[in-house]
This record gives sequence, C-alpha cells and structure tokens, in this order.
Amino acid sequence: MKKHDNNMIIRKIKKGHAWLSILSGLIVIAISALTLAYLVIMLTYYFIHTKLAVEYSSVSLMSAIYEKSLGEENGDIAGYLDEGGRIYFVRDDEGSTLFGEDDPDCTNVWNYAQIFNTGETIRLYRDADYQFFSVGADGSINIEIIDLINTIKEEKKLGDQSEILYLPETDKADDLYENDPLDYLFFGPIADMYIRFPLWMGIELPEGGAFIAKCYLSVKMTDISVLGTALFMLGILLLIIFTMFIVNIIGNIRKQRKIFNMVFFDVVTEGHNRMWALYRGGKLIKNRMPGSRQYAAVDLFFVNYNTFCVCHSVAEGEELLRKMYRSLGKMLNRGEIRAVGSPGEFLLLLRYDDYDRLTGRLNAIISQLEKTDTDHTFYFHAGVSVISSSKGENERKLRHADIEQEFSNALTARHTLGESSGSATAFFDLKLVEERRWRDKVEEHSRQALVNSEFLVYYQPKYDPVTRELKGAEALIRWQSPELGFVSPGKFIPIFESNGFITEIDHYMLSHVAADQKRWLDMGKKCVPVSVNVSRAHFIESDLAEQIRDIVDAAGAPRDLIEIELTESAFFDDKNALIGTIGRLKEYGFSVSMDDFGSGFSSLNSLKDMPLDVLKIDAEFFRGDNAGERGQIVVSETIKLARSLNMKTVAEGVEEKEQVDFLAGQGCDMIQGYYFAKPMPAGEYENKMGEPAAQDISESIPSM
Ligand code: C2E
Ligand code: CA
Ligand code: CA
Repeated sequence: MKKHDNNMIIRKIKKGHAWLSILSGLIVIAISALTLAYLVIMLTYYFIHTKLAVEYSSVSLMSAIYEKSLGEENGDIAGYLDEGGRIYFVRDDEGSTLFGEDDPDCTNVWNYAQIFNTGETIRLYRDADYQFFSVGADGSINIEIIDLINTIKEEKKLGDQSEILYLPETDKADDLYENDPLDYLFFGPIADMYIRFPLWMGIELPEGGAFIAKCYLSVKMTDISVLGTALFMLGILLLIIFTMFIVNIIGNIRKQRKIFNMVFFDVVTEGHNRMWALYRGGKLIKNRMPGSRQYAAVDLFFVNYNTFCVCHSVAEGEELLRKMYRSLGKMLNRGEIRAVGSPGEFLLLLRYDDYDRLTGRLNAIISQLEKTDTDHTFYFHAGVSVISSSKGENERKLRHADIEQEFSNALTARHTLGESSGSATAFFDLKLVEERRWRDKVEEHSRQALVNSEFLVYYQPKYDPVTRELKGAEALIRWQSPELGFVSPGKFIPIFESNGFITEIDHYMLSHVAADQKRWLDMGKKCVPVSVNVSRAHFIESDLAEQIRDIVDAAGAPRDLIEIELTESAFFDDKNALIGTIGRLKEYGFSVSMDDFGSGFSSLNSLKDMPLDVLKIDAEFFRGDNAGERGQIVVSETIKLARSLNMKTVAEGVEEKEQVDFLAGQGCDMIQGYYFAKPMPAGEYENKMGEPAAQDISESIPSM
C-alpha cells in the first residue's frame, strides 16, 4: 500500500474517534435542553398573562365604576362594588388610603407590569402568602416557575380545602370561571377543580392614586394538565433526542472498534498488522518528550519462511508465525510494538539506548525465534533504523519523525543483507537511501530510454603496441538521458544486472554494433573485430549462442567481426553450460574473450577447459602497487600462459608509455587504454579506422 493511502486510513480512523460524536451529542442535547427550558418559560409566562388578563378586565370594570361614580353618593358606589364580592380600596400617590379598607396582606407596590393582550399598565402588589411572580424594574413579569409549581404541590399536599374549590355543576357561582363543557368532556370531574392564588392589582386613576382590588389567579386543573401535558411531551421529545444520540454514540464506538479490528488485524497471527505499527508507532514517536528515550524501527524477516512452506505446508508455516509472534510479545518491554508485515516479516518498534545494547537484544530475540521449532534451522534478517537522536536534535524534527519512512529505512537496511543464509542484522545508513533513490530513478527511466534510443554505443580502440595498428575495439555503452544527464555504465549496469534488464541492453548493443560493422563494410572501411560485453546474468539462457548468432545475422554483419566478452566471474557459474555456450559461439564463427582476467578469483585451471580466443588482462595490474615489479611478473607470466594456450592477450587500462613499452616487450597482442584512446562515439571511431594510433592521448581528440 502506498504511503499516501496509509496516512489517509489513519486520518480517517482518527476522525472517527468516539469522543467527537460524544461531544457533538452533548452539544445537541444542551441546545435542545435550552430550547425546552425557553419553551417552558414562555408557556408559563403566556399562561399567567392570560390569567392576569381575565382578572384585569374584572378589576378595570370596578375601577371604571368607581371613577364614574366620583362625586356621587359614596354609599351607592360601595354597595355596587361590593357586589363583586371582592376586597378593594383606593390609595393616593403617597400611599394613604382614600377610600375603602386597606388590607394588611397587600404589601408595597413593586413596580408596574403590562398585560400583554391589553397593553395597559397595571400595578401588581404582593399578597404576603403567595409569591410566585415578581415584577422587574422594566415592568416585565418574572415568573418563578418553581415557586408556582411548589405552591400548587404544597396546596394539594396540605389539602387546604378552602383553596381548592369543587364547584358543583349546577351551581357555578363564580361566573368568571365558568366551565367549558368541552373541558368537562375531556377532563371529567377534575375539570371543575381549581386553585386560587390571591394577588393585588392596581389601576391608575386619572386624578392620581390607584384603585386597588384583590383578585385571584385561578389555576384550573385543566390548565395544569394542559401545561403538564405540554411539558411532558417536550420532555419526551428531549428524551428521544437524548436516546437517539446515545444510540448514535454507542453505534459509533462499535463502528470504531470494528474498523480498528478490520484495519489493524492480522489474520494469520491474530495479532496486529503493519497499519497498527504505523498508527501506534506514529503516536508513540510523536508523543515522546524531547530528551526522552529513543526508538528503533526494526524489520525482522524470517528468511526461510517460504522454503518451509514449500517443504511442509502453508498452514504449518502460519502456525510457526503465530508462535513466533507470541514469543515476540514475551520479549518486548512496555511501550514497545510488534506487528506483522508481509508473510514472514515482523515489524518491531524497540526502545533504543545504544548500538551495543540493541544489537544484544536483537541477537537474543533472533536466537529465541530460531528455537521455535528445534527440528529445523531458521534464519532471520533484521534491518534497523534508529529514530533520530534526541540530543542536539531540534524538537520539531524529533516529533515529526515519519514512522513509515523509518520502517522503510529498516527494510532498506535489511535488503542489504541480500540472500545470505544465517541470521544477521544490518543498520540503516543514509547512503543506502541515496542508492535506493538512484536505483528507483534508473529503473523508472530505463525502458523508455531503450525506446527513445538514449543508449549510445561508444568504441574504444585496441592497438598493437609494436606496430601501433588498430587491431580491434570494444563497444561500451553510454546513457544520454534527458532526466538523468550523461550517465556512465558503472552507475546503471549493476542495477540492470540485478533486475534482468541487462539482457535487453546486451541485445541492443550487439545489434547496434553489428549494424555499424555492416555499414562500415559497405562504406569500404577497413573493419576490425569489435568486442561486445555480454553480462553474466545473460549466460543462464541456454540458447544464448543462438540469440547472438541471429542478432548478428539479422544485421548482416560477418560473424568474425564480432567478439563476445565474458566477465571472469561468469566462469564460476555452471561450468559445463558455459563451456557449451562458448563452444557453440565459436562454432558459429564468433571469437570469445575473457574479460577482467586477474581481477577476482581467477581460476587458471578453468582456462584450460575453455576454448577462449582472447584473454583481457585487468586494468588493476597497471594501477598503484600492482604496477611494480611483482605485478610485471604476473602480467608477463599471464601473457606467456595465454600464448601457450593459443590465446591472444589484450591489456586493459593502460595509461603510461612505459607500460606500453613493457607490454610490447612481453609480446602482448593489443592494448586498450587511455594511452592510445578513450572510448569515443561511433563517428569519431569511424575516422580512426585504418589509421595507426596517435603517439599518445595528447594527440588524440579528447572524449570519454
Ligand atoms: P569493462 O568491460 O572492463 O570496460 C572497460 C572499462 O575501462 C570502460 O569503462 C573503459 O572506459 C575503462 N577504461 C579503458 N581504458 C582505460 C584507462 O586507460 N584508464 C581508465 N581509468 N579506464 C579505462 P566503462 O565504459 O565505464 O565501463 C565500465 C564497465 O561497464 C565495463 O567494464 C563493463 O563491465 C560495463 N559495460 C560497459 N558497457 C557495457 C555493455 O554494453 N554491456 C554490458 N553488459 N556491460 C557493459
Ligand atoms: Ca569489457
Ligand atoms: Ca574489462
């Protein structure tokens, strides 16, 4: 999976955190609770106002009667007003009673209030026994709901029958509270029940002062049940919302668990997988404090896992992995991580104190794992990437260490161990990354380069050291890449050898050289044999000789103008197959040379079995210490040996005149080196054909 994808998944998991849904749930619940409270207050406010309005009409009527009758006989007015059965009196602005009997229960005026469906201002006085609303400085009525409800409750509990009136159906004495037959239909006998809260209401008189009368805020049981039902419904609504969110949160937590299990679960070991190592590891690395302990990412690979599966069964192999995963768990400390990567690969995040201790621990872990099944010998390769040191490192870098990169570095380090058998550990170093990057770049562009003919054939002439005659040339590849620039073969041939692309390169070179030879022949040039390198990797193909023959024939070049160079190390592979291929190449008319003779583990013995034509003496003999007397002895003996085996000799990498003279004296057949010429483009080489060598490099045109 790509890095980008991993990050996306991890980010998604983080987003799905349960606490986020809990938080959003709480916010919604808070909003709905506030809305509910507001609705309750508004409803009660409206309810009380409506009740007040009813009382107001009665009191204002009384006040109007009083007003009208001013100047008339007092007794008449009093008698008339008394008919309402209410207590009333008139006060002047100073508070002295002008008319009627002031009631001791009526305390001071608080303020003015507005009855909202009349818009008129009234004065509200407190009745000492009942306080369920107050009047604010701005005239607003502040309803104390709790008091109202408590009051009602208290009234009921006390069973004060004087305040809870049961009005017989036939005798509806209080015409203000006439029962609605519909109410009775819906609420039955309780429709007749009501509680009365006394309060005093004052209406301004035009001459100053106020007409004050005791009235009642009458709460019918039907009102209470309507209010109660409304509150109950709203409560239920809130409960539903609340339940929905709880369900949602539980659902989210479950979903989260499921995702966790799915994304982080390793089916084979029933442990954690790579994603877990990245997720947990990433968190651990980010949360550690500067100066705290360091970590190392470890890529531990069970080298012979595949072989074991092939020899036994995948099921047995997986059982082994399970056991190994379990024993890894026992060997880790708190705060360390184990996970499974690809089959046979374990990812560990271990605490790092110093190089020696970590190596010691890894060795202990590996030797424990090797013992998982004592009937078999197991090998493990461990790649380690130590995650940035806390000392002297700036904090930001420390915290932003990329765990995925660290594991990839550990893998790169492990890859350096190659296929070597036996357990081993390798630490990551930055040079490896550079190599890896270069390799990726080369691999990315190589195929297109072949299509675009970015590979060029350079020729390096071989001269007779005595006559200075051109005797041959070697074809050497160059890469003129628009992306990578001019690249010398040392930087890409080893990569192509390891990934197999070299076979295509070899074919490409061979066909171009054959085509050049054919062209030069057609031009009437004096052609000499050109040697082409054929990689060791190519030699495993059993029909290699036929492939070469067909390519050369297709280009129309004579076979004796093509020489095949095999590198010395190829001679360690399947010797019989090699002898067969060389034999067939010669049979088809090609000459064959052994390249880099003396560079590695030359087997003089193998020389006698190989029907080779040319021995190329490695350039190393003409460098540094080798160039001395002892080196000269080896070179002169090699030339003699070659001659006795009927082989020609080519000395490579010759740069000095003395070397040329020495080789001429020893009977070396050809010299290929900078002394005479560097590798050059085909056009330049074409000009040198049929010409003797220039005396030294200073006279030839400098080129690669
Ligand atoms: P090689 O086959 O041993 O080629 C000889 C190398 O020595 C060439 O390097 C050449 O430029 C260099 N050389 C020749 N004379 C002198 C000298 O006097 N002094 C010094 N310092 N160097 C000298 P080059 O071209 O960089 O090639 C390096 C290697 O890459 C070759 O070593 C060969 O193994 C491989 N290679 C080059 N072209 C091909 C190809 O077409 N196919 C394959 N399979 N391998 C190739
Ligand atoms: Ca060569
Ligand atoms: Ca060579």
